[in-house]
Amino acid sequence: MTVYLVGAGPGDADLLTLRAAKLLARAEVVVHDRLIDDSVLAMASVNAELIDVGKAPGDSVSQAIINDLLIALGRSHDCVVRLKGGDPFVFGRGGEEMIALRDAGVATDVVPGVTSALSGPLAAGIPVTHRGVARGVTVVTGHVFDESDDYFRRIAHPELSLVILMGVGQRARIAEQLTEGGLSAETPVAVIESAWTARQRVTRATLFELPNLDVAPPAIIVVGPTAALDVATTMSAATVRW
Ligand code: SAH
Repeated sequence: MTVYLVGAGPGDADLLTLRAAKLLARAEVVVHDRLIDDSVLAMASVNAELIDVGKAPGDSVSQAIINDLLIALGRSHDCVVRLKGGDPFVFGRGGEEMIALRDAGVATDVVPGVTSALSGPLAAGIPVTHRGVARGVTVVTGHVFDESDDYFRRIAHPELSLVILMGVGQRARIAEQLTEGGLSAETPVAVIESAWTARQRVTRATLFELPNLDVAPPAIIVVGPTAALDVATTMSAATVRW
């Protein structure tokens, strides 16, 4: 009687961990999010019940309902997989679900996944850390601001790669605050939509151009000098402007 919080990786089923694949084959019930690729769901046993608790924007199955569902399933089944995109503890509310299950006395375990925060840039040939270009990487959500929130002004840093998840809707405000925080309007930007799926699309631009880019979620936004790199093809570090 265990509920496994399992990372599904960014898309393609080949990027599942072996542990995730084994659990999917064993699970009696798979409770999954909206962004899970069909190739991953196909790894579940044909006898498994698949439950989609995906949250389309504005149409949410509340987190409390999901927690209650997982608790009930955990009490009535041997093996339940709660499948979450990427890594379950990176903006997936996996931590909250694990606490709710534990508080209810349901056995849980967690299986890491390949997060889109790092594998999305990689899919575009962007190494988020690169000697002489970026000393590190900051992963943040672009979601949920109120009017007084100036977070992006405070985290602007020219020597780091900034990786923004869930940032497409707020991209104008993010660009404005990063510029106010000291980043040049010429700072490279890359947007990777639907990384590691058949719909993957990469757009390169500058911070100045970010607000007007024609891009749609799910997407990863990379801001910083590494966003100009594509080590998989032609560009070299020499094309970075600083
Ligand atoms: N736990 C997930 C993130 C969940 S938040 C992870 O570790 O990847 C959902 C956001 O992740 C999306 O809005 C988008 O910004 C990003 N995302 C997830 N999968 C993606 C993919 N295949 N391509 C681009 N962005 C993705």
